[in-house]
Order: sequence, then C-alpha cells, then structure tokens
Amino acid sequence: HASMSEQMKHYDVIVIGGGHAGCEAAAAAARYGAATLLVTHRLETIGEMSCNPAIGGVGKGHLVREIDALDGLMGRVADAAGIQFRLLNRRKGPAVHGPRTQADRKLYREAMQAAIAATDNLDVLAQSVDDVLIEDGRCVGIVTADGAALRAAAVVLTTGTFLDGLVHIGTQRIPAGRHGEAPAVTLSKRLYALAEESGALSLGRMKTGTPARLDGRTINTDIFDAQPVPFSFMTDKITVPQTVCHITHTNQATFDIIEKNVKLSPVYSGQIDGVGPRYCPAIEDKVVRFPDRVAHQIFLEPEGLDDPTVYPNGISTSLPEAIQDAFIRTIPGLENVHIMRPGYAIEYDYVDPRALLPSLELKAMPRLYLAGQINGTTGYEEAAAQGLVAGMNAARAAAGQEAVIFDRAEAYIGVMIDDLVTKGVSEPYRMFTARAEYRLTLRADNADQRLTAKGVAAGIVGAVRAQHFEAKMHKLDAARAQAAQWQMTPNEAGEKGLHIRAD
Ligand code: FAD
Repeated sequence: HASMSEQMKHYDVIVIGGGHAGCEAAAAAARYGAATLLVTHRLETIGEMSCNPAIGGVGKGHLVREIDALDGLMGRVADAAGIQFRLLNRRKGPAVHGPRTQADRKLYREAMQAAIAATDNLDVLAQSVDDVLIEDGRCVGIVTADGAALRAAAVVLTTGTFLDGLVHIGTQRIPAGRHGEAPAVTLSKRLYALAEESGALSLGRMKTGTPARLDGRTINTDIFDAQPVPFSFMTDKITVPQTVCHITHTNQATFDIIEKNVKLSPVYSGQIDGVGPRYCPAIEDKVVRFPDRVAHQIFLEPEGLDDPTVYPNGISTSLPEAIQDAFIRTIPGLENVHIMRPGYAIEYDYVDPRALLPSLELKAMPRLYLAGQINGTTGYEEAAAQGLVAGMNAARAAAGQEAVIFDRAEAYIGVMIDDLVTKGVSEPYRMFTARAEYRLTLRADNADQRLTAKGVAAGIVGAVRAQHFEAKMHKLDAARAQAAQWQMTPNEAGEKGLHIRAD
C-alpha cells in the first residue's frame, strides 16, 4: 500500500488499472528502476481474470513466452496457478506449438498480487482515477475520485472493459466494468472531452461477452471421457495438482431454443452498437451465422481446485437469464445443472490505436501511454504484452531515454503493436500465428533467444533471469560448436538419439 505521504511523492510512472496490462506495465517500469505507482479500483481484483480461466494457446502462448523472455510476470504467475498444462498443436510444426494452461482463478490472482507486492520500486493504491492531468499538451499526472492530484513523469492508462462499461443481459442494462464492479464513467467523459479539445485521440465502442458460470457439483460428469509444459523458461517443475476438462456439445434442442429467442439478445435487438470479437462469438451468433450446424463444442473448464465453479467455454451469451437456463439444460451432462451466475455482454470505450506511436505513447499527447483492451484488443495475453511495452517505455521516457520498439521480424509483440498502430481495429484484435509473416522463426520455444538480450539492454530484465539466460546460451553455444564438428549420416545421427529426416 502507498501511504498518504508516499502518495504526495513525485512518481516517475503512474499506471492506472491493475488488470493484465496494468500489472505488466507497473512491474516493467519498476524493474527498469522507475519509482512507480499502480492505482486501481480494488487491491483484491489485481490480476483478476474477467472471462475464461486460461492463459496461452496458439499465438497467445507465444506472447506469454515473449513476456517471460523480457522478465514479465504472466508466465511465472500462470505456472504458479496452472491446474492443467498443455502444448497445443503438438503434432503440427514447431512454429504453431502453443503452450496453454488452465488456471485456478483464485491462485492466479493471489500469485499476481504476490508478484506485485514483491516488486521493488512499486507502490500500490486502491482508488478510482477520474482524470489525467495535462499541462502544455503533456500528461503530468492523474486525479483520483477523492480529488487528489498525483504527479508523474509518465502515465500508463490500462482501463480494460471499464471505460463507461455497460453490461447487457437480455433487455437488462447494468452500468459495470465487469460483473459486480463499478464502471469508470467520469474518466470516460474526460477522455471524450480531451479527444474533442486536443484531437489527440478518438474513441469508439466495442463489446465482448462471457458465458454463465455453472456449479460443477450439479454436472453429470459420469457420461464424459476424461502432460504439463510450463510457460516460464525459469520453471523446472509444476507444483500445483493437475485437473481435467470435459467436453460436451449443443444439439437440436439447444439450437431451437436459441433460434426462437434470438431477438431477445441485445446483440440482435439493436440494444448493442459495439463490435464484438469475431473469434469468440456468442452462442446466439453461432446459431444465426451457421444455421446448418447444431453441434457446437463446449469445454467444461474448472475455475479452481477448491472452487466448484465451471466455465462452459463456447456458450458465451447475453440472452435473458431464463432462456440461458433453458438452453443450457438441453446440453448432455448439464440437464440438472445449477447456474451460479448468468452470462452477459459488456460494451466499453476503446481508443483508436492509430493515435499511438509504436512505443504506445499517444502521438499528440506526450507521456500518456495506453495499453490493453483500451487499444481495441481482446485477451489477457495481448493486454499483458502491450502493458510490458508501455510500462518499459514510460519508465525510459521518465529517465530521458529513447523508446525501445519490437520489430515484426523479432517478436509477436512487434507484430501486434505494428498492426494496431498502423492499421487500427475494426473489431476486438486477438493474436494468431497467421498474423506473423516470420512465424517460422518467431516460435514459443525460442522467445528467450530472440528477446532476453534485448530486454537486458533495455533495462527491464533482472539479474536472476539474465544469469539464467547466459548459462543457457553458454550451453547452447557449446552444443552448437560441438555439432559443427560432427559429420554423420541420418542413420548415424539416429543411433545417437537425434532423429532427423533421411533426406
Ligand atoms: P482489465 O483486465 O479489464 O483490467 C482493467 C483494470 O483497470 C481493472 O483492475 C479495473 O479495476 C481498473 N480500472 C479501470 N478503470 C479504472 C479507473 N478509472 N481507476 C482505477 N482503476 C481502474 N478475452 C478474450 O480473449 N476472450 C474472451 O472471450 C473474453 N471475454 C470477455 C468477457 C467479459 C465479460 C470481459 C469483461 C472480458 C472478456 N475478455 C475476453 C477480455 C479480457 O478479460 C481482457 O482482454 C483483459 O482482461 C484485458 O486486460 P486489461 O488489463 O486491458 O483490462
């Protein structure tokens, strides 16, 4: 906690928002050595996973490995909280191997909060931020809801889905940043006013959604059939017990209920204007767009080891509660399920990312950096990767240093930021391997070899990781030098355990 006297101190960097972008931004700035303050609504929700309890996947897992290579938090936190580890696409080529873990939501939050608390140079304050301080066209600090003005050399804004957030369940509309949490309305108004006055940014609306949460004790798992790969280059062994996910499907009865009631979904009634994520559609979207398909796969993902909540991945919806209840009960295994919380859609403000430099600083408002969902992306990993870049560059700017930029040829982080700042977004942006033209070399397994040295030079990699990396590179170099001496046929190599193709 930052005490009142500490709050009066002048910070190098202030980060607004303790979500995935904010945590990485604050930690990166602090690792650089900047006196950093993280201001967020509630300390208990630092590291909260708003939607699915999983980290990584194809493309997203690449981003996590890159964050880790730059000494960020997400990989280590996911390893501490993972209850099922997988390497997706194992049978395909190494470019598309994607590490993914199912995470215990509570363990993840706790591990992130512990990582933040253990970071030197980093204070944390529970407050709502209502305004950014602008002097001579530059950002010089923030104003909290209780009227306190806190000054800093640079500010990073990571408000996620909270800016004028509006939750929709059927015709019900609830102002909220996420289930049960107040939205950031005053800050939204101020950003719209700044957009008008300065022309430094332009805002729009987007939407995303989440499924109902189910009570796992009321799921009939008897009818279902039931290899850890850690994220962090620093993790030797997974210590958390591992669990399983079950798979079920929607059917004709599910389809019929949804189709009959689709006009009650705010997405189709015209109640929502914001554009939703194409690759994470609501179940009512799937029914409308694919009328010939009634069977959609649903992964029943446990949210935690000592938590009965199950996240039914694949049936995100904003239909009225009674309709959700009816269609979910048509699904095999869920006939008698108890719904703990209904699904919902949320609309929120985002900023057109073309207003940003590749450092994630606003072009027309120096020292104000934006990262995460506010830039039109979706996903924890996309948010965290931007947070790291924004936090690093805010700290470097505060110290009078030039920005460090990642190129499309060296990192998925570079691909994402280049896409955002040059092309902008017309729908929530998520990472895919297909977006990277150099994906054969940008692999999850070599993220450290691509990026750790650059991170060391940029000043955001700590001594422990730097030594670990140096030792690994030393071994690799020695092995490569030795391999260069060898002359052998594929058969001889096979005898030594190195299985290569005969051609
Ligand atoms: P968040 O994780 O939203 O964090 C924002 C933080 O900022 C919060 O801690 C908040 O308290 C704080 N904050 C905001 N405003 C202020 C303020 N004025 N003052 C102080 N603190 C403030 N992603 C997917 O990939 N697939 C999905 O299907 C998906 N579905 C989603 C469904 C829902 C309903 C929601 C809410 C999110 C969903 N997401 C999904 C998105 C995912 O949760 C986000 O992409 C990710 O959390 C974004 O991280 P962030 O750090 O930008 O913001």
